[in-house]
Amino acid sequence: MNNYKLAELAITSLKICYKEAACSLIYENELQLLISARLSAKCKDARVNNVTPALFSQFKNLEDFCKADILKIENIIKPCGLYKTKAIQIIGMCKMLKKVYNSKIPDNIQELIKLPGIGRKIANLIVGEIFKKPAVIVDTHCFRITKRLGLQNENNEIKAEAILRKILPKEESRDFCHRLVVHGRLVCRIKPICENCCMNSFCKKHITQNFANT
Ligand code: SF4
Repeated sequence: MNNYKLAELAITSLKICYKEAACSLIYENELQLLISARLSAKCKDARVNNVTPALFSQFKNLEDFCKADILKIENIIKPCGLYKTKAIQIIGMCKMLKKVYNSKIPDNIQELIKLPGIGRKIANLIVGEIFKKPAVIVDTHCFRITKRLGLQNENNEIKAEAILRKILPKEESRDFCHRLVVHGRLVCRIKPICENCCMNSFCKKHITQNFANT
């Protein structure tokens, strides 16, 4: 089976399994999403969602973050881990948005990744969620599952994104990635529960394992 057909099957199956596809971070505007996404590095989205109401009630806009006392931010975001680096980058990012981008969040990946702490995963999330552009959000779940399925066999997320971008239909890629996150939390975990998986009839890892056991 070629990768385009495999992608089509995976997209269809996940749509049936997980009808709703959504970003699990809670936000009210693009700046909040950008900051929440930065906080989510090495931290579960649920924990970020617990922390951000206090953060966004004290720092309501770009200007507030630019003028922020870093210790106050550190104190609030501490439960997210790496809090010192994250606090520095959040303030740096807001200052750069103000100075270089006229207080507007760029609508493209090339500019977004120039901001402190923003890599391709977050940049894709922003262009997909906020600007409704084609996005391939390769987080740990997407990377692991697409590799197991046989859609890509790369050794890092950037290369995987490039491969997936070629084979996923533009209008499907963002929601496909959101659904992979849910699937990765529930079924295709580090130790996958393949017998419960809606993709086990065509998953390369599962088929290979079954073949090896016969
Ligand atoms: S069959 Fe197993 S390894 Fe393949 S996607 Fe499903 S849970 Fe993951």
